Amino acid sequence: MRYKDGLAASAENFRLVLQKLTELGIPFTPVHYSVIYEYVTGINPPLKEAVDALIHSGHASSDQEMENIFVNHLVPEFLSQLNSNQEAVSRDLQNLLTRLSESTSSTLLNAAKFQEGLESTKSTLEGSGPLNSVDLLHVVKKTLVDTDSMKRSTSILEDRLKESQSEIDRLNKELRSAKIAAQVDPLTELLNRRGLEQEVDKCLLANFKKKEPCSFLMVDIDHFKKINDARGHLLGDKVIQAVAKAIRFSVRGEDIVARVGGEEFAIVLPRTNTPHAHIVAEHIREHVEKIELLSSKTRQKIGTFTVSIGLDTLTDGKDWHQSLDRADKALYQSKTGGRNRTSVFYDEP
Ligand code: GH3
Ligand code: MG
Ligand code: MG
Repeated sequence: MRYKDGLAASAENFRLVLQKLTELGIPFTPVHYSVIYEYVTGINPPLKEAVDALIHSGHASSDQEMENIFVNHLVPEFLSQLNSNQEAVSRDLQNLLTRLSESTSSTLLNAAKFQEGLESTKSTLEGSGPLNSVDLLHVVKKTLVDTDSMKRSTSILEDRLKESQSEIDRLNKELRSAKIAAQVDPLTELLNRRGLEQEVDKCLLANFKKKEPCSFLMVDIDHFKKINDARGHLLGDKVIQAVAKAIRFSVRGEDIVARVGGEEFAIVLPRTNTPHAHIVAEHIREHVEKIELLSSKTRQKIGTFTVSIGLDTLTDGKDWHQSLDRADKALYQSKTGGRNRTSVFYDEP
């Protein structure tokens, strides 16, 4: 775990972070909080150096600069932590396999000895004349002891196998949840940019084998800074969550939805041409307009929220990143055209 502080220490850190944010005139956002948290606790020396340089340059309140520090000095830490989790899982798996292989070979050794014992008893019986009762008793006793030892050895192997099965299941689950955590945005539970990359590659492979079009939408919440400024970042986060839900509600299960920036979303609609994608985009816009958030104090409805959308359709299956860029350009047209609308990308003549 990266953060091991107890309640008292984290409350003190919280106070220090708030003090620093206020002192530097930096708004309280999750990104800023995380950066300044690591700064005041000193657990991330390269980040501390970068923030000190930023303070020195007088640009500590720049959103972009803080986001750069977050991406360059915090995200890699979490990714390496994730890798170290995966290393731990793979170490556990190796130990498990070693234990299993030891029990198997000792069982095989016992089985070989058992077979040898049986063979030698058989040839003694064949080679000798009729045995007296004492010799017979000896042979029976020896066979019983050998059989018992063989049984014990196989039952140890059986136990080990059962134990291993549940351990393998546990490791499998851990790996799966580590993989999911690396691809999912915790605020909205949509995919993050990393998850988007992986899912789109997988999906397009199947899509273009069948020569079908695939549409891309870029969605950005309108005047989001004003919402943050007027209502605070916590309410801002709730708006992001509500928009994520409205988008998910407007698309099919097979469509891919990701949060790719603070209040920006990318949507991939496989097997969908431009007119159909336009209908989906308009559904999203309408659902967002209908979002109802109530003030926790007055229980009154808070404002109306809108999004601008850009659309592009990929028909040759070549470079989907370019299609996403074109959707982003179309989104810009929606913004300059007055917001709360969908624009389809077209090449300037
Ligand atoms: P426009 O209509 O042109 O899009 O205007 P805008 O105000 O929405 O402008 P922009 O898209 O640049 O605003 C993004 C803002 O989102 C800036 C940043 O402070 C805020 N933000 C980014 N991530 C988060 C987040 O996770 N939570 C909250 N509450 N705010 C965030
Ligand atoms: Mg934006
Ligand atoms: Mg915006």
